[in-house]
Amino acid sequence: MRDRTEFSERSRLVASSPTQRVAVEADTLRRRGVDVVDLGAGEPDFPTPDHVKDAGRMAIRKGFTKYTPNAGIPELRQAICSRYEADYGIKFEPDQVIVTAGGKQALFNVAMALLDPGDEVITHSPGWPTIVDQVMLADGRPVIVRTHAEDRFRVNADAMIDAVGPRARAIVINSPGNPTGGLIDEDDLAAIARAVTKQGIWIVLDLCYEQLIHDNISHNLPRVLQEAAPNRFALVGSLSKSYAMTGWRCGWAIGPESLIAACNNIQSHCTSNVSSVTQHAGVTALTGSQTCIAEMRSAYRERRDAVLGWLKKEPRLRCVRPAGAFYLFPDVTELLSPDTVRTTVDFAAELLRRNHVALTPGEAFDAPGFIRLSYAASLGQLEEGINRILDFVAAIDRGEVRAAGSDIR
Ligand code: PLP
Repeated sequence: MRDRTEFSERSRLVASSPTQRVAVEADTLRRRGVDVVDLGAGEPDFPTPDHVKDAGRMAIRKGFTKYTPNAGIPELRQAICSRYEADYGIKFEPDQVIVTAGGKQALFNVAMALLDPGDEVITHSPGWPTIVDQVMLADGRPVIVRTHAEDRFRVNADAMIDAVGPRARAIVINSPGNPTGGLIDEDDLAAIARAVTKQGIWIVLDLCYEQLIHDNISHNLPRVLQEAAPNRFALVGSLSKSYAMTGWRCGWAIGPESLIAACNNIQSHCTSNVSSVTQHAGVTALTGSQTCIAEMRSAYRERRDAVLGWLKKEPRLRCVRPAGAFYLFPDVTELLSPDTVRTTVDFAAELLRRNHVALTPGEAFDAPGFIRLSYAASLGQLEEGINRILDFVAAIDRGEVRAAGSDIR
């Protein structure tokens, strides 16, 4: 019989998110009164727009504080459909939508609904670690395709198609991507869909940063999939990043009714509905004025360009211009050496200890040698953070930095 203190094999497949651990360490310093510049955040620094907060308050006042239908209130499922029709010109029915506790739960539901033990899921790296961890939690096997800085971390169709083997069950693409800000082109996605859907392979798109594209390019991925893979797609979206609503926990999956019904069954036995208050605020976010998104997007674009300009002072912080999201992902391998900081885990730990800047080492995204800087911070904080990083680099050059080994793993 199993030792009662022993946990399941499944629980040991994954460690807690490394991106969250950096935040914890920075928070500990801050509590001690240290002035930390936080470039590690994976969430908007803007407040949730006032009209959305008001809708949440109103929901409580009106007594919307009870269970709702598991897949979400009809008004919210309809609002999600209407948003996609307005943004992408495509129609979905509310039965094709499930409301989830963030994009994270939508992706988890889809993994649980699609995968049997040993099924392969092709995804790309550097990437958000949760995608791979969820595949493993669902007994699947991740197959990783690398994207490259020289190519602006674009997801390349041929590389993805080449990775499809006989056990392939799904392809998961995150565009714009965390941590790179890279995109997949519409043509690449169409080529993948044409190549694999005949084999019954599903294409899952993580669109959580879909409203944060800074370059002027067409990125109508939902339309591409609706046309090229009408019965084999899942679109995952979220209010978190677009509307600065990370704490409210509201996302969704859209797909064929059969897939959404399977997700609904699964969700009904774990979390049930998303908070009723959040759902009412979500309706307001999606159906109200969208100028808040445009304002935040233009602030992010200004910050991206400012930080890229400041980083140019140090050519060994080699950074591509990301097309979307709110992260920069510089390659710092030229600053690493066996005598000073050996890895980007050491880099992040020493930078936090010496110069009090929090950022996320590339190891967290399967990309040693890179660091992720979040520009979801004010211009003033960003300038201060970059100056501190430049001071840190100068200290490395003077031989003053010796990595002591890090607890950020
Ligand atoms: N997808 C990506 C690529 C992310 O970076 C995140 C959050 O950081 C999510 C999905 C999920 O966000 P949420 O669950 O808050 O919607």
